[in-house]
Amino acid sequence: MKNISINMPDFKPGSVWVVGAGPGDPGLLSLLALHGIQNADVIVYDALVSDDILKFSGENAELEYAGKRGGKPSPKQKDITDSLVALAHAGKRVLRLKGGDPFVFGRGAEECLRLAKEKISFRIVPGITAGVGGLAYAGIPMTTRGTNSAVTFITGHNANGEIPDDIDWKSLADASPAMIFFMGMAHIGRISEKLMEAGRSPTEPVAIICKATMPNQQVLVSTLEKCRNDVLASELIPPALIVVGSIVNFREYLDWFNCE
Ligand code: SAH
Repeated sequence: MKNISINMPDFKPGSVWVVGAGPGDPGLLSLLALHGIQNADVIVYDALVSDDILKFSGENAELEYAGKRGGKPSPKQKDITDSLVALAHAGKRVLRLKGGDPFVFGRGAEECLRLAKEKISFRIVPGITAGVGGLAYAGIPMTTRGTNSAVTFITGHNANGEIPDDIDWKSLADASPAMIFFMGMAHIGRISEKLMEAGRSPTEPVAIICKATMPNQQVLVSTLEKCRNDVLASELIPPALIVVGSIVNFREYLDWFNCE
């Protein structure tokens, strides 16, 4: 093996790195993310960051949990951001670790805006979003030349836990051959209904990808008309992505995860 060294940026005391941890499999971390995790004084991490990734932290690093756990109320976004600011002002190397990519439904922008306002130096390290990594591990291509020239990421959840009311279902159904819903499990019945009302075929394929890229990943393949009942009858547990479109059909041939 060649010994190649990569020049990594300095993680300066008093700065914050906002880092994407990817969807779960530690092998999907970027080298830059790993460098940050190994050198941080404090890691403020979210619920979707796997323990296997936190194991890369330095011996003396403090680990601060900033997600939901065991039905307890989740910390308010403002408290998390305040804590990042306070830790940076205390001269720590602060690493804010988020599942997937910090800028994909991850509130990374809100946190960085506050850091910018406070004139705290920060860096954003992108991660593989579950929307990309999860499909790859489920053997579902995001695009193929024969099926779709566009793909849409949609959140199935607004700040109140409801389907966002600014989704234009008709335009979505007309213009987006492939859709990937984040945070949509609780509303899968309404999401599929809205899409059928807007003209999508009831037999259109749907995949629900749970715990993507983790050893206990599970994928359920269904259709728009059946997916609600199929999910109810299953024991699938979030986090989950809902994929809608004919790209799902490729899974029959490309499911490498269960063939290894
Ligand atoms: N920033 C994250 C998304 C945060 S929103 C990213 O880029 O991936 C949280 C939602 O992401 C979950 O409700 C789920 O829809 C999706 N998600 C995150 N990790 C996942 C995983 N390992 N498997 C399936 N879905 C996942």
